[in-house]
Amino acid sequence: MNTLPPVHVALAGIDKLISSLDDALAALRVLPRNATSQRLTAYTSFISGATPCAKSPTGRKILHIVLLDNGRSDIARAPLFSQVFRCVRCGACANVCPVFRLVGGHRMGHVYIGAIGLVLTYLFHDRKIAKQLCQNCVGCGACKEVCSGGIDLPALIQEIRARFASEDGSPAPARIASLAMRDRRLFHTLLKFMRFAQKPVSGNDGFVRHLPMALFGKQGFKSLPALAPKAFREMWPVVKPNVASPRLKVALFAGCAQDFIYPEHILAALNVLAAGGVEVTFPMEQTCCGLPLVMLGEAKTAERVARQNMAAFAEDCDFIVTLCASCASHLKHGYARMLGKDAEKFSAKVMDFSSFVHKYLPPEVLPLERSGEKVAYHASCHLCRALGVREAPRALIRRAAEYVPSAEEESCCGFGGTFSAKFPEISAELMRKKLANVAASGATRLVLDCPGCAMQLKGGADKAGMPIAVNHIAELLQRQSTRG
Ligand code: SF4
Ligand code: SF4
Repeated sequence: MNTLPPVHVALAGIDKLISSLDDALAALRVLPRNATSQRLTAYTSFISGATPCAKSPTGRKILHIVLLDNGRSDIARAPLFSQVFRCVRCGACANVCPVFRLVGGHRMGHVYIGAIGLVLTYLFHDRKIAKQLCQNCVGCGACKEVCSGGIDLPALIQEIRARFASEDGSPAPARIASLAMRDRRLFHTLLKFMRFAQKPVSGNDGFVRHLPMALFGKQGFKSLPALAPKAFREMWPVVKPNVASPRLKVALFAGCAQDFIYPEHILAALNVLAAGGVEVTFPMEQTCCGLPLVMLGEAKTAERVARQNMAAFAEDCDFIVTLCASCASHLKHGYARMLGKDAEKFSAKVMDFSSFVHKYLPPEVLPLERSGEKVAYHASCHLCRALGVREAPRALIRRAAEYVPSAEEESCCGFGGTFSAKFPEISAELMRKKLANVAASGATRLVLDCPGCAMQLKGGADKAGMPIAVNHIAELLQRQSTRG
């Protein structure tokens, strides 16, 4: 290799050592295919030792290979973080990251880019930078889905956040949320107080209307939802359906957003389930699923509310059904991660609403009148990626209306719980892209299965004056149900 310099020093982490040429070739095939769909990278070199050189007194050029540990041996022994060594640096986790695609690499520090860059910055570089970087993750799960090494990147990012919260103490908003949510009665009393306090500023269309725009600052990119005049739990004794000879019995998990902001989603679901001969119970001691606490790094309180919910759902039922994709994914996978075997029985029963209706209420059980309306679908990150539910909601839309696919249907809407409040500029841009794609599809209605996405996209469409209705899929099914 004449192009090599007279003295060649190669520096590599010990994690780059591979035991056989076959393994190296496997990594070489995976890397370019996952990065850019190429068969081979343009910069692969095979070095078998110092190359011959007539000019050198020894007859060979000089080659040094320096292998660096820098904490890698310890990380290789760590149960959760050892998976980072499966990374082949294909960069796909950066390509698909909605945040990285907007803000670029400068924000990501210099160790590496994208989701793995964030984790590696924490492990090898600078704790302070990593602390900021891990806030940038919206938790969409796109990186995990695409990773050629099968690395659970969102789980690693969550763990880093939790470590910062326990080692450095949580920021004030996280501490306040943790205090308020650890006790269900206190939390719900606070929500009821907020509902009372918001009265002078809420319109009668579900949005906060009567506040000067200047007060919203950067949050003004969407209309903000108002708390509903009555929470679902307050309506339950009156709306509880009576189903004779039920086919199945489900316990409803409401989640805070649908209980207190969008009770109409649950009311619609009650009608759909009753039309399909399903008995529904609503355990009143249920509380927030705890996902916002996990996102804030409040692991202990998150575990506490998980146990409260599991106790609330102790009564026997066939399934625990929720209309919130984020709650569904956390109840199913998050509880199992936190509580292991203790959560097994509970998590096994959890099902998202679309999957339940698609599987147990087929057309002969739940007849729908198909309208000619063009309906687009937004796939919530937690439904399509965390739970792998893709076909069920689209099949249900096709039963009820004309389903029109839109571009980047599975891209994040930019809500991400507290992310939208922390990074309004990024959140707004993701939301605008999503709404523009929906508008381009020609749809007059957009349906989704997550109240968080509803807050974002309903608020964004309202703010932009878009002539498009935004509904939960349960509302669409209720409208088209022929059994009222
Ligand atoms: S979970 Fe989503 S936002 Fe977070 S790093 Fe992965 S791709 Fe990016
Ligand atoms: S973490 Fe996965 S997707 Fe990201 S660079 Fe490494 S192998 Fe590729």
